[in-house]
Amino acid sequence: QAKEQGGNQHAVFTPELDSRVSERLHLQNRLATALEAGEFVIHYQPQVDATNGVICGMEALIRWNHPEYGLVPPGQFIPVAEESGLIIPIGEWVLREACRQNQAWRDEGLSDFSVSVNLSVAQFRDTGLLTLVRHALDETGLDPHYLELELTESTMMDNPERLITFLEQTRKLGVQIAIDDFGTGYSSLNYLRRLPLDRLKVDYSFVRDITNDPASASICRAIIAIAHNLRLGVVAEGVESEAQASYLARHYCDSLQGYYFSKPFGAEEITALLRQREPLMKFAIEANARRT
Ligand code: C2E
Ligand code: MG
Ligand code: MG
Ligand code: MG
Repeated sequence: QAKEQGGNQHAVFTPELDSRVSERLHLQNRLATALEAGEFVIHYQPQVDATNGVICGMEALIRWNHPEYGLVPPGQFIPVAEESGLIIPIGEWVLREACRQNQAWRDEGLSDFSVSVNLSVAQFRDTGLLTLVRHALDETGLDPHYLELELTESTMMDNPERLITFLEQTRKLGVQIAIDDFGTGYSSLNYLRRLPLDRLKVDYSFVRDITNDPASASICRAIIAIAHNLRLGVVAEGVESEAQASYLARHYCDSLQGYYFSKPFGAEEITALLRQREPLMKFAIEANARRT
């Protein structure tokens, strides 16, 4: 694909940020300056307790606040950041900023939940990762228990030996570990069984079809059962409707995350939301009643 583009050095930087090679090079350079210029922001998306709608977690999701194009979603620059190695300093910034924000909420009495930070495979491969995590916690004063790291199955399977050491160290530290997009990768259940993990995140694709595809619904139920049998928590991502939320709650999913409850928002808006101290789920009581 890159070769087809030949020596085209003059492609313009479009909002689509497509994969033409010159744009990638330009994007790499721009990403480096974006970090220095403070153009990255974190949006936070609440996770709620499925039994009562109370906010019980917060996922940190990076955006690039581009001076011309506005908020650029991570799918359009994280892959390039990974290729170029820039994901290391960018990821370090996310980690520190998310810890700082959660501690600020804790200081205000607004948070007793963990903040979840996504890790890419390049960060996982970096031998300095655990040191970065320790530094972020030390510098912000956040108790390790209130930080969760999200790894995907493919990241985990990238280097199984390193994974075990990493998980043993994070467990010792007290940092929580979740498997993101669970069910879409190739990890073996027998292998997972032996890992010190904390939560599984049911992938959006299964949740999306829960009410119109019996197979997706049974996969969701199966993942919930696997999590609980392994004594892990389970959170469903991409919950967009009351029907999906109520189905998951009735089938004992622990927590729910998705547009139905809240889109990801900037720290200020989330702070305002936390100050309301209100559950985000109107049907909680109803769902609870149906459970028993
Ligand atoms: P993810 O970790 O699986 O995050 C969930 C994605 O689903 C987010 O997209 C979120 O905005 C979106 N989402 C949440 N609720 C709903 C819903 O109800 N419906 C739909 N259709 N989507 C929903 P986003 O923010 O664009 O992030 C995409 C991916 O980028 C993330 O997937 C994660 O893999 C990656 N990412 C985000 N932030 C970071 C970061 O700081 N570091 C790294 N390495 N990756 C990140
Ligand atoms: Mg995630
Ligand atoms: Mg996910
Ligand atoms: Mg996903």
